[in-house]
Formats: sequence, C-alpha cells, structure tokens
Amino acid sequence: MKTKKVIIIGAGVAGLSAGCYLQMNGYQTEIFEAHNIPGGLCTSWKTDGYMFDGCLHSFGALKPEYRLNLWWKELIDLDKMDFYYHDELCQVFLEDGRIVHLYTDPDKLERELKSIASEDDKFIEGFIKDIKHFTKYDMQLAKPLELWTPLDYFLSQFRTGPYVRQLSRWQKSMTEITKNCQSPLLRRVLNQDFFSHYPAYFFLLSIGELHNCNAGYPIGGSLRFVLQIENKYKELGGKIHYSSKVDKINVEGRQAVGITLETGETRHANLVISAADGHATIFKMLAGEFVDKKIKQRYEEYPMWPSAVLVSLGLKRTFESEPAQIDLRLTDPFTIDDESILTSLPITIYKFDPTLADEGKTCLRVILKTTNYRYWHDLRMNDPERYKQEKMRVAQDFIEILEQRLGNIKDQVEVIDVSTPATFMRYTHNWKGSIQGWDWLPGLIPDTMQKTLPMLKNFYMIGQWVSPGGGVSSAFVSGRDVSRIICKKDRKKFQTV
Ligand SMILES: Cc1cc2nc3c(=O)[nH]c(=O)nc-3n(C[C@H](O)[C@H](O)[C@H](O)COP(=O)(O)OP(=O)(O)OC[C@H]3O[C@@H](n4cnc5c(N)ncnc54)[C@H](O)[C@@H]3O)c2cc1C
Repeated sequence: MKTKKVIIIGAGVAGLSAGCYLQMNGYQTEIFEAHNIPGGLCTSWKTDGYMFDGCLHSFGALKPEYRLNLWWKELIDLDKMDFYYHDELCQVFLEDGRIVHLYTDPDKLERELKSIASEDDKFIEGFIKDIKHFTKYDMQLAKPLELWTPLDYFLSQFRTGPYVRQLSRWQKSMTEITKNCQSPLLRRVLNQDFFSHYPAYFFLLSIGELHNCNAGYPIGGSLRFVLQIENKYKELGGKIHYSSKVDKINVEGRQAVGITLETGETRHANLVISAADGHATIFKMLAGEFVDKKIKQRYEEYPMWPSAVLVSLGLKRTFESEPAQIDLRLTDPFTIDDESILTSLPITIYKFDPTLADEGKTCLRVILKTTNYRYWHDLRMNDPERYKQEKMRVAQDFIEILEQRLGNIKDQVEVIDVSTPATFMRYTHNWKGSIQGWDWLPGLIPDTMQKTLPMLKNFYMIGQWVSPGGGVSSAFVSGRDVSRIICKKDRKKFQTV
C-alpha cells in the first residue's frame, strides 16, 4: 500500500503525540507549527538567567501500574527523568496569619483537618477514606471511545464498578459538597480555586496520585519535557516546519486535501489533523463550512477555561522556610481587570527545581485567572504603552502583597516577567487565550467530543479542544487515540514502537 501522507497542524503535545504514533505506524507525517518552538501551552522560557515555567505543576503518569505511564513511556524515557514529589498540595495562608497544610499523605491530612474542624469529623473521615480508595483508580480508558464495541461497554462496568459510588458522591463541586460542613474554616480550606472548576472527585484523585507518587513535577520544567517528545518525533523520521502558520485547510469535494500556509504556499496530504485551537480550526481554517447545530451551540454556549495573567519573578534569594506551593488568601481583593477580582492567589516557589535559577536564586510564579481576554488583547493592540503599564501594575501589586505576607521580596526582585491572555493568544493561538480549553463541569460527564466534523472526510481534530478539562496527558492521549483510529480505518495493526 502506498504510504499515506498526513499533515498535522500544531506542535503542541497533541500534535507531537499524533506525529510520533503515526510515524510508528508507517505514515509519512509533517507538522506545521506557527511558533518557532514546540510545546504550545506546555512551555517555559529563559529571561535574564531565570527559566520561567508556563505550565506543568505536576505530571500524573509515573507509576507503572497505570496505563498512562506505559503509554507515555512509548515516547519518553520517564525512568531517566527526575521528578519532584510534593508532600503538600499547598499550604493555605489565611488572612489572619494562620496556616493550614493540605498534606498529600491522607493520614496527615486527616489529622490536620480534624485539628481545625473537629465538629466535621465524620465528613473528614469519609473524605479521607475516599481519597485512599481513589489512589488505586486508573481513570484512563484502554482504547478510544470511538472504537468501543458492546463488549468494551460491558467490561468497563467491572473496571469502574468499585469506584462508582465514590465518583457519584464527589461529582458535585466542592463548594456544593462542603456547604453542610459546620466549620466555615474547613469549607474555605477545601474550596481550592483550581479544583472549583471540576467535580470534587478531581480534588480527591489529585491528592491520591500525589501521595502514591503517580504525579510529580518534571525537573527542568515544561519545555525540557516537551523537547523530548519533539526529539522522539524527529528520530521516528517526522518533519516539523516551525514559523509556519496554517491559514486554511484545503477541501475538495468534502475531503481535506491539504493546507495553505499564511505565506500562500500550499501543501497536499491524504489526511489533515488539526492539533491547533478548535475555534480557529472550525471557523477560520475551514470557514465554518462543516458545522452542525451541536458544534455551533458548543462554541456559543459551553463554558471554557478562563485565561490568566501569569506573573513570574526571578528573586536573588532562597526560600528555606517557605512552602513550595501557597494558596494565599487575601484580606483586600486583588483587581486584575474589570472582570477579574481575586481573593486567593495560587503561588509556586520553584525551590524544588535547581535547574531553573542559579544557586542562591529562585523563580516564583502566580497564576491570576481572568475571563477578560478582550481587555488585554485590545489594550495590547490599541495602546501598547498602557498595556505595558498595566502588566507592571499587576506585577507590582503582587510584589507588594508578597512583601507584606512573606517579607524580604521587594529588594530581591531581579526579573519580572508578565504573560497575559494576549500573550497566550499570540504564542499559542488559543481561543480567548484559554489555558485548558473546555471546562469539565461539576455534576456532568461531558459529552464525548467528536474528533471529526460533519460531512468532512480525511480530517481529524485532537488536543484540548476535543478533550474537556484539557491538560497535557489528555492532549497526548488524543494524539495516540487518533492514530489508533486512523490505523483501524486503514486495517492496520496499531504499533507503538
Ligand atoms: C499556566 C498553565 C498551567 C498549566 N498546568 C498544567 C498542569 O499542571 N498539568 C496539565 O496537564 N496541564 C496543564 N496546563 C494545560 C496544558 O498545558 C494544555 O491543556 C495542553 O498543553 C494543551 O495541549 P494541546 O496540544 O492540545 O494544545 P496547545 O498547547 O495549544 O498546542 C497547539 C499548537 O498549535 C499551534 N497552532 C495554533 N494555530 C496554528 C496554526 N494556524 N498554524 C500552525 N500552528 C498553529 C500553536 O502554536 C501550538 O503550538 C496548563 C496550562 C497553563 C497555561
């Protein structure tokens, strides 16, 4: 059979993953990436001697008992990498100076929570029991849903069976679940900003996987991590074209036949896979010609992950007595922009990764969520000077807060680096600067999202815009899955070497 040529748009984790697996299966692939480096949202960058990380807090695929570990090892030698295992999800620094430790060890966590909320003993015991139960749960499906047979549906009941009760008990948001707790402090501490986006079981699963060392932070950071996948792709014979933005997906007789680059050049292929932003793929590259009511409705109504202003600081000091992750609760709300006024700040002090800064120096980062993509985008376009000032205003306000709460910050700042929704848009082209695509809402199992579009042949979509909740591993799995689907269609046995 003649080798099929596949064009992949985007060298983020999803695009690289699809590229690797398709190369392993005898397809001839080429990736076209708008940026001049791989990784998309999974990235880091060096500024004046400090390596600032823009992504991975933790990577959850490190135990061989889990399917994801075996799959990731098909692309990366995880055993040769160093990971840092957090023993606390974070420390909650309350406004009044009290500190609550959210330990990843369930027994320690139980003692800590009971010490602040003994009146909620029963709730805490149930919470801890279910964290322990979840430590053995492998959420990853064995094969893409698109390939499931009735037997797979039947067998899946046995796999999820032992967890169904816990999954349904924790399917609502933590705010909803803790509303009957008597202790207001317990309610506040368990309502972690990041996890309020998800059903509460994500919170329990996350603590579980941090505790059993399935999840860890990759030393060296996100770009170093992703460069290993890029390397694998190249070893497998794949070709990447950087600084090559795709403008259009070319279609003939309802079949994708290639792409047109921003430069006007065209490239032909038997299959096109978009691992780029979903909105741009459907409504720009394909001019909105292959949508049905469901797709339109999703892009008009479905909630998505907000964007963020990331403030990264390079500090000429160490942080021996501070924790690595702080959830800083504020007395006075912190205004990011008109729509985004925050009362808690998720801070990471990268004291656990010596490769990011010289000895005696440390990187520190805060993720400030914002839904007001438009404000930052328009400001950058229309008034670059004010845009710069606004970035600095947010950074200086943050530094002031840190000075008050941690001390010894202001005079130690050597580098200030601020990314806004406009930055995410500029470098990754994600719609409204979203950092994880669609939300995975509490109480809902999201609809399975199709990797194809109605009435369009030889075309697939992968990445965070077809995997609600987003994340590096879902992007990776979507690339693996699509390769498996393509092989199945071509009656090929799926190979992973
Ligand atoms: C601050 C932050 C923290 C995060 N923390 C975590 C974490 O701890 N764990 C976790 O799992 N996930 C985390 N994520 C989310 C994770 O990074 C993303 O969900 C994931 O990387 C998405 O991968 P992707 O391949 O689907 O998309 P992307 O990374 O968006 O890749 C898409 C690629 O396509 C390219 N592209 C777009 N349009 C075009 C075009 N027209 N032509 C050519 N190329 C194009 C882009 O330049 C980009 O390289 C975090 C994200 C952020 C921003």
